[in-house]
Amino acid sequence: MNLMLFGAPGAGKGTQAKFLIEKYNIPQISTGDILRAAIADKTDMGMEAKKFMDAGQLVPDSTIIGIIKDRLAESDCKNGFILDGFPRTLAQAEALSELMSNMNISLDKVISLNVPDELIVGRITGRRVCSKCGASFHVEFNPSKKEDECDYCGGELIIRKDDNAETVISRLEAYHTQTAPLIDFYTKMGVFMELDGTKDVSEVTADMFNALA
Ligand code: ADP
Ligand code: AMP
Repeated sequence: MNLMLFGAPGAGKGTQAKFLIEKYNIPQISTGDILRAAIADKTDMGMEAKKFMDAGQLVPDSTIIGIIKDRLAESDCKNGFILDGFPRTLAQAEALSELMSNMNISLDKVISLNVPDELIVGRITGRRVCSKCGASFHVEFNPSKKEDECDYCGGELIIRKDDNAETVISRLEAYHTQTAPLIDFYTKMGVFMELDGTKDVSEVTADMFNALA
């Protein structure tokens, strides 16, 4: 199954991706996680991307498309994958279509998690992420079992550098101007599906599994 999770920053894509991984045994491909790993490794690409990420802006398409091309070619993607946070621009969506067509595969579903902007700030400022596996928690809405420790791998929970009230504004603006036009792109492709992302985590998961059944 080739899936894409779509939605504003903080809509719950990473959170729901974990449940899809467990159910379908396919990898999550989060461009944000890949970029953060490159920053941690201090690669040239990571250092360049960091400037954009810290400012809440999108990283240039050429960098992102290169990342995805390499990642989709890895063997663990052969039975499917979950795209999380990619594509975010029309150029990225078009590049993805071309890549997938060359691989003779197609997207099964684009699952949009709809959450209004006014809820996003609270979600992002309360987010805690695992420094090891990238899993996402929330101090109030989705707390980890042990404070500061990841439920999945025991890694330390940290606050992302870009998870602050100022950066959220730029990230939401980037979403509305550059990413939201993809709704039309995937609706025309006949794979776009919307879920109410304001429900509790477990309710969103149940709705998502029902829609994919
Ligand atoms: P995204 O990957 O779309 O940026 P995350 O999955 O990291 O978003 O979720 C953003 C924040 O909102 C996290 O702190 C997460 O725990 C929390 N969250 C995710 N889904 C829900 C939900 N359905 N209700 C309330 N909080 C949620
Ligand atoms: P995320 O982890 O999805 O919230 O992404 C964090 C940041 O990484 C974004 O604010 C962007 O700066 C960058 N980023 C992640 N994915 C992409 C993408 N597909 N296109 C451009 N920038 C991206």
